[in-house]
Amino acid sequence: MQITAIRPYAVWIGMRNQLIVKVETDAGIFGWGESGLSGREKAVIGALEHYAEFLIGRDPMRIGALWQEMYRSQYFEGGRVLTAAISALDIALHDIKGKALGVPVYQLLGGKQRDTVPTFATTAAEPGPEMIAQAKMLMQAGWTAIRLSPSGHRSGDIYEPREHIAATARWCAQARADLGETVVLGLDYHHRLSVAEAASFCQKMPRGTLDFLEEPIRDETPQAYEALRRLTDIPFAIGEEFASKWQFMPFIERDIHQFNRIDVCNVGGLTEAMKIAGWSEAHYVDMMPHNPLGPICTAATVHFAAAVANFSWLETRASPAEATPGFDDSAFFPVQPKLQGARYPVPDTPGLGIEVDENLVRQQSFRFWEAPHLRRRDGSATNW
Ligand SMILES: [Mg+2]
Repeated sequence: MQITAIRPYAVWIGMRNQLIVKVETDAGIFGWGESGLSGREKAVIGALEHYAEFLIGRDPMRIGALWQEMYRSQYFEGGRVLTAAISALDIALHDIKGKALGVPVYQLLGGKQRDTVPTFATTAAEPGPEMIAQAKMLMQAGWTAIRLSPSGHRSGDIYEPREHIAATARWCAQARADLGETVVLGLDYHHRLSVAEAASFCQKMPRGTLDFLEEPIRDETPQAYEALRRLTDIPFAIGEEFASKWQFMPFIERDIHQFNRIDVCNVGGLTEAMKIAGWSEAHYVDMMPHNPLGPICTAATVHFAAAVANFSWLETRASPAEATPGFDDSAFFPVQPKLQGARYPVPDTPGLGIEVDENLVRQQSFRFWEAPHLRRRDGSATNW
């Protein structure tokens, strides 16, 4: 079998661009992958065009060897753009291999360790009664793990952490009091704080308020996370931006975080994700995958989640709190993972278990989109 074509589609579906990639073979089998570098899809398409130059004609079954060649075949190896491209191709190659062998992708990853994949759901309501009401609604719908993800009292493009840290901490404590001791409660700070701000936030809550704190600070410096670790005992959930095993390495080996927010569409695909899962298992760190993209990302992550031992919850955007009114992507993806309650069933069909209406996708166009460029009140730049 030989790869005959690589077709990237960066198209607006629902609320965002999705960069999905079709890899075709001379056996008539094709695979789908997705890339996760949201907001810089054009850069990833450039990388995919480079990779197509030497992947066409190659054996798609040699996934590990092709991964090494894509990552290392240049002097300037690595980086988020390249691993986002590798991720999509690696996922598509797993889809092809599963279809060629007549097995679901989880069989290529060591087999199924669980029958269904538990998820966590998110409320993006601002700290206040609505946030707690949405969390209660999610609990009634079956979720036992809930993430709070407020934007943090943003007004326009102004973001001042110190103006909302105290209120956010107070409403987290209120949520814990109202929702009970059992529910798993986390909060995503979207890496918007400094070490001192994050410490202030954590120290304003009673111990046991949060079960995990996601991305309190940016992740370039493991030492900064170690400094924050000394200032709080809340478990950290980080890693959704990491683009290789080497980026995870210091965090795993120094036992800085407790949950891996691994993103199979950015980290280097299923090949790289399985290595990181094994490495994390040795440190008793659980996988809590990032899953904000389209159904191909969800399908690939469901197979990953099924096949790893050390797993907590998969992020889902399909909960009633996040559904986009009037939007249904089933015309684009007629076969895709669908939640049953708070869990994804593990598909048993060959490959990823996903079908794409390529003609419909072709009719969609790309929309330029920029993340908000947030500023402090003094005019200086800060993180989105
Ligand atoms: Mg996050």
